[in-house]
Amino acid sequence: MNHNIVVILRLIAALASVAILYFLVFVILYYSVSAIITRWESALLAFEEEKKRQPSEEQVKESMIEIVIGKDDGGSKGENSDSKCAVCLAKFKNGESCRVTKGCSHWFHEPCIDGWVDACRSDYPSRDLNCPICRRHLLVV
Ligand SMILES: [Zn+2]
Ligand SMILES: [Zn+2]
Repeated sequence: MNHNIVVILRLIAALASVAILYFLVFVILYYSVSAIITRWESALLAFEEEKKRQPSEEQVKESMIEIVIGKDDGGSKGENSDSKCAVCLAKFKNGESCRVTKGCSHWFHEPCIDGWVDACRSDYPSRDLNCPICRRHLLVV
């Protein structure tokens, strides 16, 4: 009789220690996972906030002047000049639509600078919205 009680008590003690062990593991896992999730969420939130702060398409458009070569440039950039677009390295030709940055007065083909701006925007904030030639910020006029 006594012997049986000792065995049962030992069994209960063994089960209890296993339960405590499982509980501790659970608590540690729970806290570390929730800590990781919290950190991840705040990083994501900060990233979203940063994205919202980037210049709007409207602001970018306003930072440049649209010009048609041979029409609005007074003949200074057309076929007879050596002017090249710094993005595609091709010479400007009459009839091509271009954009001139207001801040630094650099000339680019419209699709070239639009592609550049798109690339800057998709890498924002690690890449800022700078002029391909002089790195001046496009919105600083
Ligand atoms: Zn170009
Ligand atoms: Zn520039």
